[in-house]
Amino acid sequence: MSFCEWDLRESLERNELVPYFQPLVDLRSGDVFGFEVLARIERPGRDLILPGEFIAIAERTGLIDEITRQISVKAMQVLAGIPTPYTLSINISPHQLQSANLIGKIERLTRQTGFSPERLHIEITEGALIDNMAQAREVFAGLRKLGCKLAMDDFGTGYSSLHHLQGLPFNTLKVDRSFVSSMTRERESRKIVAAVLGLGHSLGLETLAEGVETDEQAEMLVQMGCDQGQGWLFGRPMPAHKLLELQSGTSTKGWSAKPKDSETQAGLDGMPAERLAQLRAIYDGSPIGLCYLDRKLRYVSINKCMAELDGMSITAHLGRTPKEVAPDYFAHMEPYLLRALNGEAISRVEVRQQAGSGHGKTSTMLVSLQPAFDEAGETVGVSMTALDVSPWNGALTTNSGCASCTCMANLGVEAPQSQITALLGKILQPKAESHAASLSNKVVTKPRHARKERIAVTR
Ligand code: C2E
Ligand code: CA
Ligand code: CA
Repeated sequence: MSFCEWDLRESLERNELVPYFQPLVDLRSGDVFGFEVLARIERPGRDLILPGEFIAIAERTGLIDEITRQISVKAMQVLAGIPTPYTLSINISPHQLQSANLIGKIERLTRQTGFSPERLHIEITEGALIDNMAQAREVFAGLRKLGCKLAMDDFGTGYSSLHHLQGLPFNTLKVDRSFVSSMTRERESRKIVAAVLGLGHSLGLETLAEGVETDEQAEMLVQMGCDQGQGWLFGRPMPAHKLLELQSGTSTKGWSAKPKDSETQAGLDGMPAERLAQLRAIYDGSPIGLCYLDRKLRYVSINKCMAELDGMSITAHLGRTPKEVAPDYFAHMEPYLLRALNGEAISRVEVRQQAGSGHGKTSTMLVSLQPAFDEAGETVGVSMTALDVSPWNGALTTNSGCASCTCMANLGVEAPQSQITALLGKILQPKAESHAASLSNKVVTKPRHARKERIAVTR
């Protein structure tokens, strides 16, 4: 039996509207910091009636204001009675933003219940704001002035999310459930989630992922730098009595909020912007050549040292491929690059380079290739390091090369590991030769599939 306007009016009069609380967790610690209140109707003799059956009717008939009032009062009363200062997130419908006295109504509710407006988070589906940006801006400013936080709900599902993000003072971005639910299966969803999280952080917003149902999703989100989560993994929406039971410690059912893995969190050194800054510092200060190529083997980043090895500027590399920048070099490196794109780590490929058209100075490089994986283990690019060991070339190899093509692959005599180790130690830390072995291990340690190879090319 479907629910109609008269049923809804009757339910509101009979006080059948009840708040359900769904926990919101800090993804790094697993701690619950607040709850989103979701409206339900409990009618004798019927199953619980979900918002899908009555919110649209309420919006159409104007009953939505009364729903917001009743739900907010009840939810604020429940949370105001708990010592822990949880936040409370309430949903506001599109139409309600057009009402200038929304701010006054919310202020009255907080005063009436004694719930601090600072703990109130107001969620607005972004599609709601399209009609009247000027009005929305005014209402947002008033709510912020009151101390409330603002969240953009269902991000990614509306028509002009970016326009709204730019023009309105949101605090939190809620990534829609549809992307989260498919992110462990579909590369595209994963990329969208990563892009949304990056966007949120670069705008200084908190990010919250909706619909987290599995450990795998939670772990992936943590790795991607998502701040907060909501979903069945952490707890389904629950009635007030359940919340109070859990608070008083009489039951723990459904309260397992911690994503179980700690290993991924240990590897998390910061938010994307911080990681970028770290990476920049490493690139700028590195005494060895470093670059990163994407799946299409285009230079995404390259440091000065590596660019100088190619005899070209950093900007001349970016967006181009090694094939365009140094075709001879690429011809020899291509098989290794392809293997790295296939997920194989290759270390210490010895490369002889001749500057110019083959008559210039010859230098010897130790090149290592490390595939970069995304959260699902797919290769997204290759990180390459090159160390110029020419000053010690004689110690490394007695190779004299192939006259016709300068290819030295598999012709040379390998230097003993101890010699390479000592050399790397000298290059990387000249004043601490006793540390050479440990330092060089960092550079030349063979990853699982690592190989040592030797080639020579002309650039
Ligand atoms: P919403 O704001 O996006 O709320 C999240 C919805 O996702 C809720 O559905 C919640 O039960 C569901 N959900 C949470 N975690 C999971 C999960 O891990 N898996 C799955 N499959 N679902 C999950 P619900 O309670 O049916 O509410 C639907 C929508 O109704 C809400 O979507 C919100 O837009 C609207 N709504 C609910 N209560 C109110 C209200 O008091 N006022 C207004 N204006 N809208 C409300
Ligand atoms: Ca919501
Ligand atoms: Ca949502």
